[in-house]
Amino acid sequence: MKPLDCARSHAAGDLDLPHGARFACEASRREFLQSLVAVAGTAALLPASKLLAQVARGAPGRIDVHHHMYPPFYMKEMEQEMRQQGWTPRPWTPQVSLEAMDQHSVATAIVSPVQRLVLDSMSDRSQRARSLTRQSNEYGAQLGRDHPGRFGFFAALPLPDPDGSLREIEYSFEVLKADGIALWTSYVDKWPGDPAFATVFDELNRRKAVIFFHPARASCCRNLPGQSGIIEYDMDTARAIDSLLLNGTLARCPDIRCIFVHSGGAFSVLAARIIDDFPPRLADRVPHGVEYEVKKLYFEVGHGSAAAPLAALRALVPVSQILFGSDVPLRDYELTTNGLDRYDGFSPNDWKAIYRGNAERLFPRLKA
Ligand SMILES: [Zn+2]
Repeated sequence: MKPLDCARSHAAGDLDLPHGARFACEASRREFLQSLVAVAGTAALLPASKLLAQVARGAPGRIDVHHHMYPPFYMKEMEQEMRQQGWTPRPWTPQVSLEAMDQHSVATAIVSPVQRLVLDSMSDRSQRARSLTRQSNEYGAQLGRDHPGRFGFFAALPLPDPDGSLREIEYSFEVLKADGIALWTSYVDKWPGDPAFATVFDELNRRKAVIFFHPARASCCRNLPGQSGIIEYDMDTARAIDSLLLNGTLARCPDIRCIFVHSGGAFSVLAARIIDDFPPRLADRVPHGVEYEVKKLYFEVGHGSAAAPLAALRALVPVSQILFGSDVPLRDYELTTNGLDRYDGFSPNDWKAIYRGNAERLFPRLKA
């Protein structure tokens, strides 16, 4: 980062600083606050800590780790299935994302595929799954080249096809320079800790990969009578983590960095029970203990920003493990940011870490 002109940054109206620069003058925080309070009118009624938190929240430079892309080829492939399901996705171009990002002070979005088609195509070892995955990854990489600094991407894998996955891992990291890998929380009737996926996780561990786990609705639990199905995404996040713990994947692959979404879904509130009731006969699969593995996981807060999920997440993991995400364009940014703006459980430094600093540690190329 370039040296910051602290004197310049104290002007209350000068909020358009380089990413992260606003927070670089900690020694001058008091003076900065005083200048803000002096000119902020009704804002002067706010306690200083609250005011600083609000400034931090409005800062440019957030990194959004849960953001989707709809490549044109993909939407064409999905057309028939979408019609059958009565699902009409919002029209999307990269410009739609960029405008939303600009409106919400998001510097960079790390995109991942939206799930339906790729997920279902990956249930077998078809050439189609490999082809769709490759096209999706090429599109994500091109998006980053077309808009330098604004987009990164998580590469998809045809996970039930280990050979295809190993090939795609190599291509995605070495040729496309992917920021990480996007996986689903389940693949038809298998969760990520399944031994069938072990070789792929071992390779991801060797590469110290970041893995973004997007929730799916497992085949066991689709179309349950009298159920909306919406909670299945949150339940499947919990099942995926349970699977990675029970099968020993997290302990065997200590160098992978796993991101789960929506403040952990059902996992955040169930974690204490999962930790307490972990089967003693499987204790050798978590030699450092279940809690140790859980506290290494990362969680983004997209549409998980109500007070209850945030409080549960805050109690579960250190702030260093919490990231900003949104689920845009499937969802609007406000669905996440309104809750964050109301939440009082984080300090100004916590917000800095959540909005940018923690993601910079995971993706050093994004360091301002
Ligand atoms: Zn999503």
